[in-house]
Amino acid sequence: MGLQWGFINTINNFWITAYETLRERIMDTERKASLGGNMWLTSDEEKANSILMNAKRAEIAEGLKNPEKYPPAMHFFQGKQFVRQSEVFRFIQKMPKGAFLHGHNTGMVSSRWIVGNLTTTSNLYTCRDVRGLLIFTYDQSRCHSEVQNVCTERINAEDRDKYERQLERHINMHCSRPEALLRNRTKIWERFENIFTTVDRLYKYRPTYCAYHKRLLEELCEDNIIYAEVRASLSPLYDDNNRTYSTLEVANELERIVEEFKAKHHDFVGLKVIYAKRNRASEEEMARRITTFKQLHHAKPNFVIGFDLIGQEDTGDRIKKHVNELSNFPSTANYFFHAGETNWNGVSDWNMMDAILLNTKRIGHAFALPKHPQLWATIKRRNIAIEVNPISNQVLGFVWDLRNHPASFLIAENFPIVISADDPGTWGAKGLSYDFYYAFMALAPAEADLRFLKQLALNSIEYAVLTPDERRKINRVFQRKWQEFIANVLNPKY
Ligand SMILES: [Zn+2]
Repeated sequence: MGLQWGFINTINNFWITAYETLRERIMDTERKASLGGNMWLTSDEEKANSILMNAKRAEIAEGLKNPEKYPPAMHFFQGKQFVRQSEVFRFIQKMPKGAFLHGHNTGMVSSRWIVGNLTTTSNLYTCRDVRGLLIFTYDQSRCHSEVQNVCTERINAEDRDKYERQLERHINMHCSRPEALLRNRTKIWERFENIFTTVDRLYKYRPTYCAYHKRLLEELCEDNIIYAEVRASLSPLYDDNNRTYSTLEVANELERIVEEFKAKHHDFVGLKVIYAKRNRASEEEMARRITTFKQLHHAKPNFVIGFDLIGQEDTGDRIKKHVNELSNFPSTANYFFHAGETNWNGVSDWNMMDAILLNTKRIGHAFALPKHPQLWATIKRRNIAIEVNPISNQVLGFVWDLRNHPASFLIAENFPIVISADDPGTWGAKGLSYDFYYAFMALAPAEADLRFLKQLALNSIEYAVLTPDERRKINRVFQRKWQEFIANVLNPKY
């Protein structure tokens, strides 16, 4: 009997070893096929990776014990306080993140900074517009209520901080119970779009426009970002002398701000503009926009680099409606369409198909992409980058738990993706760090490591629109900053 049991045990052990080997092999194959999975790390990078992964494993272990306090599984508004305590987050904050490729200029700067710095001039007022919405304004032309001087109100306020927090509420999506909002996505979008109406007149005043965009560049640098491509409408500005600045003059103004900033910050490679307009228009209006874009691009081919349509996709025009106007496009320019930012399947998500047929350079969101194998195969073959904005998708109500974000599939399949932040200033994020954190902790698998994060940064550079000179510079700056970062991580003072 003993001999027989021994034999069975041997067989059993052999079977278990084979089983374990097979398991290992499957996991290893998945790991290598995923985003960053094949990257080689230097020995210093390996050491930094161990530090990062010890922190990540500890945070996951803690999350398994206390899932209700695990920020990657929480809504950003509720999880942010815990994210800020995370060692992984602090690692990501210090990490060079390359380029910011999906952001809307007027939604990028922190609302706290705006209230503290752009609402302090004596000529600024608030009032209610025709719809009863609070707007900031320097004149009274849009006011349909009593006008309040912001400076006077601030001085008279019993509690200045409280007054500023109240003002900030008009330009920030934050709410303590986001689950209550989520039931009505139309409401969420209404609130989101109201923010841009509230600040519209504020940013159209030239001095404020300039201060705002200087701060935008500073916030990018503070988050270790060295380049950006932002969606902007370049709407006319006005100043104290009642002079109006045309769209081309606004482009000049913005370019000047960027060049001045670059002269003081030698590592900053630049900022370029994707001319972005609302996704609802008549055929004539769309044709006019394309004409304006062509003039801008002709005058500044390396600054106004492309075109996009923005706004809630489910209720906006389909790209297909404007194919005629959009097909007449300069060969040196690019499309960067928002497409597939929807929970629908087989409705507005077909915008992704039209974006591809119109030869888009990148796609904003493509949240619905995993539902369309024909499209995803083409995107992979043609190397069209997907701009994934995790927190935006959550705040705007497409997904609650970011561990269920569809980009997990794109990460597993090593699609050309970049992580971006859309309108971080309107929901209390800053730069890319919070979105990188969610990508790393919620979208990617538990074992995704420094390779994943470095690949995301490298992707952002690869899919940016750069001249050969700019590309050489960004690669040089990034490599140096990356080495400094790794050295800092390994330095005991870190
Ligand atoms: Zn966007």
